[in-house]
Amino acid sequence: MITTRFAPAPTGHLHLGHVVNALYVWETARREGGRVLLRIEDHDRQRSRPDYEASILEDLAWLGFTADGPPVRQSDRTHIYDRALGRLREAGLVYACECSRRDIVDAGRSGAELRYPGTCSSKGLAETRDRAIRVRLPPSEEAFDDLLVGRQRQLPSDQCGDLLVRDRNGNWTYQFAVTADDHDQGVDLVIRGLDLLQSTGRQIQLARMLGRAEPPRFMHHPLVMSTPAQKLSKSHGATGIRQMRAAGLGPDDVVAAALAAVKLPTSKLQNSN
Ligand SMILES: [Zn+2]
Repeated sequence: MITTRFAPAPTGHLHLGHVVNALYVWETARREGGRVLLRIEDHDRQRSRPDYEASILEDLAWLGFTADGPPVRQSDRTHIYDRALGRLREAGLVYACECSRRDIVDAGRSGAELRYPGTCSSKGLAETRDRAIRVRLPPSEEAFDDLLVGRQRQLPSDQCGDLLVRDRNGNWTYQFAVTADDHDQGVDLVIRGLDLLQSTGRQIQLARMLGRAEPPRFMHHPLVMSTPAQKLSKSHGATGIRQMRAAGLGPDDVVAAALAAVKLPTSKLQNSN
């Protein structure tokens, strides 16, 4: 029995990419006899909006995706993140950072992503409201077996440097919040798009630092391909579920469009029994 989750951010309406993810999440849970938790990832307080959340929940219900239990909001879970941060702090794993984004951009990139060079790691700055908090990543490789794309090897300390836990606006970061949530909620299979594959190693390392002896397993699925999506947007105006509904499509049409937009491979998820 697995526990997985569907976790949209209420920073926009539901679109075809969400539907592809939902199909993988609910289909995998159904096949494995597992459950699906619904988590509203509103950790970004500046960009999240209640009307987007309402719209997402309404579209999900219309599509027939039903979660096991009521939705949980990250904005209601500050105590979880405070506790997780406290744990890291007690272990001497966090430090305050006064760098602006400009400082980090000027320090240069490592490959495709922006890497924090550790400028403040030995400054011993006090934690104040206008400073960010970072966690020290171990300088070790992280290897894991993705359930769809196979064995992966990553070196997070080289890819991104010490990870942001909370930014200078007081927002918990995506990486930190989801890792603490998955731990707290007992999520043991994370199903998400391939665009997030490069951040998995750091989440596994963070999960261990938060005391999770057995980090979750991961399944990264293909994204909506541009060609069918463009075709779709030509015939229906957009890939937003709102627009597709307004154009007269039914739930089955939207699911069919999602299946057509991404060639769903045969899952390699092994039966655990
Ligand atoms: Zn810094």
